[in-house]
Amino acid sequence: MKHYSMRSHLTVTFAIMAMIPILILGSFQVSQITHITQESNRNQQMTTYRLGDAVQDYMYYHRNAVETLAATITASDAAFRTRESLRLKLQSLQQNLAGFTGIYVVDQNGLIKATHTTANDSLIGTDVKDRDYTKRVQAASNTIISSLFRGQEGQNQPAVAIAVPIYKANKQRDGFVLAVLELAPIKELVTKYDYGKEAYPVVLDHAGKPIYHPNGTLTETLTDLSKEPVVVDARTQRQGEGTYTLSHSAQKELITYKAIPEIDWIVWVSKSKAAVNAAFTESLSITILLLVMTLILTVLLGSFLAKRLNGTIHALVGYTQRLAGGTFVEPGSKVVPKGAPLELQLLADHFFTMAEQIKENQGALLQLNSELEDRVEERTQRLQDEHATLNAVLESMSDAVVLIDMDHHVVYANHRMAEIFAIPMSELAIMQESALFDHIALLLPERQDELEKLTAGPRVQGAFTVKNGQGKERFMMVSAFQVAREGRVFGRGYVWRDMTKEHEIDALKNDLISLASHEFKTPITSIRGSVETLLRVDAQWEESFKQELLEGIHEDIGRIQDLIDDWLDISKIDSGAMRINPQPLRVEAVVESAMRRLPQQANDAHTQFEVHVAEDTPLIYADKLRMEQVLVNLFTNAVRYNTQHPVIRITAHADERYVKLDVQDNGIGIAAEHVDKLFDRFYRVDVSSSRQTGGTGLGLAICKGIMQAHGGEVHVESKLGEGSTFTLSIPRFLGEGNSNEQEKNHDRR
Ligand code: ADP
Repeated sequence: MKHYSMRSHLTVTFAIMAMIPILILGSFQVSQITHITQESNRNQQMTTYRLGDAVQDYMYYHRNAVETLAATITASDAAFRTRESLRLKLQSLQQNLAGFTGIYVVDQNGLIKATHTTANDSLIGTDVKDRDYTKRVQAASNTIISSLFRGQEGQNQPAVAIAVPIYKANKQRDGFVLAVLELAPIKELVTKYDYGKEAYPVVLDHAGKPIYHPNGTLTETLTDLSKEPVVVDARTQRQGEGTYTLSHSAQKELITYKAIPEIDWIVWVSKSKAAVNAAFTESLSITILLLVMTLILTVLLGSFLAKRLNGTIHALVGYTQRLAGGTFVEPGSKVVPKGAPLELQLLADHFFTMAEQIKENQGALLQLNSELEDRVEERTQRLQDEHATLNAVLESMSDAVVLIDMDHHVVYANHRMAEIFAIPMSELAIMQESALFDHIALLLPERQDELEKLTAGPRVQGAFTVKNGQGKERFMMVSAFQVAREGRVFGRGYVWRDMTKEHEIDALKNDLISLASHEFKTPITSIRGSVETLLRVDAQWEESFKQELLEGIHEDIGRIQDLIDDWLDISKIDSGAMRINPQPLRVEAVVESAMRRLPQQANDAHTQFEVHVAEDTPLIYADKLRMEQVLVNLFTNAVRYNTQHPVIRITAHADERYVKLDVQDNGIGIAAEHVDKLFDRFYRVDVSSSRQTGGTGLGLAICKGIMQAHGGEVHVESKLGEGSTFTLSIPRFLGEGNSNEQEKNHDRR
């Protein structure tokens, strides 16, 4: 929308305000003038009627008089129709009624035979038989009024005649009385009325000749006006008025007319149309002039006032702009120009005071602002520190943490979460809750329902065995909880804790209890039986029998002791308390020592050892007893899991760090699927057979623990039915180097 300046607004407003009364007055005046004009027209009409009546009366009197005279003559005898006698009669009429220029008696032949005065006697005998009136009166039997004529009988002036026939006693026509009327009295009669400005009367005779016309020439020349449209209208339509252009004036005129009956004359009053319109036009012009003048004056005045207001407002606007731009006007400087309205002056003063206050407050505000900024910065820093600390705590936690917002988007997840569930951190950070759970569900397909339960309820706990990317099983505990503060819930959190170790310990505990119940029961029952036998007082036992029982008891106790040893070893390994006491050793010596420690069972089987250890085999750095324990274990197994005559081949070779000792047997071998789990605690390939062979499933787990405690390792290669080769990687003795190595191993555990 276009915006106009205040000056334009005020000017237009002033102009409109000024125009309204002028327009009202103007309209009123126009209506008044219209009314006056109508009134004037009515007056003109009335005047025309009065004029008509006056002319009619005038002619009526004169005609009557002439007719009376003619009747007198008709009534008189021939003796009284002498010239003298007639003169006296004619004279009497002329003297009694003004207006006749001459009164004559005309005989049947159309010759004047008597006049009203001897002065006119020269006219006696004048032949008037060709005159229009003579013809008409002779043709008619009643009075006629002639049309305008000029002649002697009218003293050579334009005149009209009244001709009345006279009769003899025998009713025979005896000529007529001819009374000639001068026009001056008619003129006087006609012009005595006030017709108003630029208005005039006209009287025409029956032939259309002007009896009276202000233009005397027309009368003088007896001009025939019968063809004028107004005359035609008056004779035919008789509407009484109209606007006509007369041939001699060539201007439009408003004419009111009247036809006089009997004499068939026409009177009219003519007024120039220009004069009629003049008043109207004049009034309109004055109104328009007033309007234009007022308009110019109000525009000038409005403009002047607007300029004054505008100046003040512009000064205020400029002032505010400077203020907005940060420039404060010096106190005391005049903002508003002189002569501004009081209200604007007050406004400017208030504005100025306000600006001063703003200026004062601005300093304080700036100070406050900077303090606020400092505080915000400090608080932000503190928050950042707290956040960083919290982040560090969450990141260094061994638990996996993930937080989900109310829109089910992951808003936080620590690296442990990404690691446990094998999801790239970048992907995890923008994951949907549902996608995350789908991913977790893939790792534990059969536990879908339980997983879904985690998303419901304010606090839910669950336990799952999750298979990680390498197929390794982990036992996970999960706590799901609502994240809320002051009753407002922000989202949901999940903490996944890897409880594999605890779970394993728990399993171990169970296994050990089961071991105790199974493996301890047999030897203890056996011992109990033997001891009860020996304690019988009613029986006398042979010494050899007693000896046999005692040896059995000894063997059982040895088995229990072995079990307890194994148990203790496993506990040490699990708790990381397995201590070794390494020293430089010769491999061959260790092997031989182990062979010597072999249980009776091995010897009974006539085990054949083939030891191929080269003389220059490097020294190993190991705990002698523990290394022997490992070898005894391997040898025992080689004998135990063998269906034929056991042959154990021991070979040694070395690399830079280790002496590798292969213990190869010709036993039953191990199927490939068991190889990976062979070193797990309590793992036995065939439980029933191992039960027979007296195994516990702890031997190889202890071997592995001992080898790891040395910084070495053990692994197996086997073929079912052909035999197995267990390879021990034992650290070489490296002098000082071994001590450092051992430190490292210790730390690793
Ligand atoms: P055990 O006390 O049962 O011998 P180990 O841990 O020593 O426990 O051995 C675990 C399992 O590995 C045994 O039960 C057996 O099935 C298998 N095993 C160990 N050594 C051999 C071997 N030399 N030949 C065949 N199988 C073996």
